[in-house]
Amino acid sequence: MDIKPRLKPKKPCHHPGCPNLTDNYYCDVHAPEHRGDRASSGKRGYGSKWQKARANYLRRHPYCVRCYKGGVLTEATVVDHIVPHRGDPKLFWDETNWQSLCKPCHDKKTWNEDATPEYKY
Ligand SMILES: [Zn+2]
Ligand SMILES: [Zn+2]
Repeated sequence: MDIKPRLKPKKPCHHPGCPNLTDNYYCDVHAPEHRGDRASSGKRGYGSKWQKARANYLRRHPYCVRCYKGGVLTEATVVDHIVPHRGDPKLFWDETNWQSLCKPCHDKKTWNEDATPEYKY
């Protein structure tokens, strides 16, 4: 029986029209070009509908809820998902899952969740 570990088969690069095979999503040639894709994909994917909903929500909830808990009024600039939606449209569009945050609080939250998931809600 052949139980030797095998290398994963290479897949074609996802860059349109590129014939190279790669272990990753893009080949070495195209990986640098697409490095920014993941960071901005959220914004691009949800488009103007989200921009509008977001602006509307911030108008109704103008202050950062985290700063508010600490007794400080800070203008919120980010609508954050309390439960990470991870692409689930139901969670994404559920306003009861939204909260207004200022940029520093949002960055802190994202950082915490990536490092150590919290389940205190
Ligand atoms: Zn390529
Ligand atoms: Zn804040």
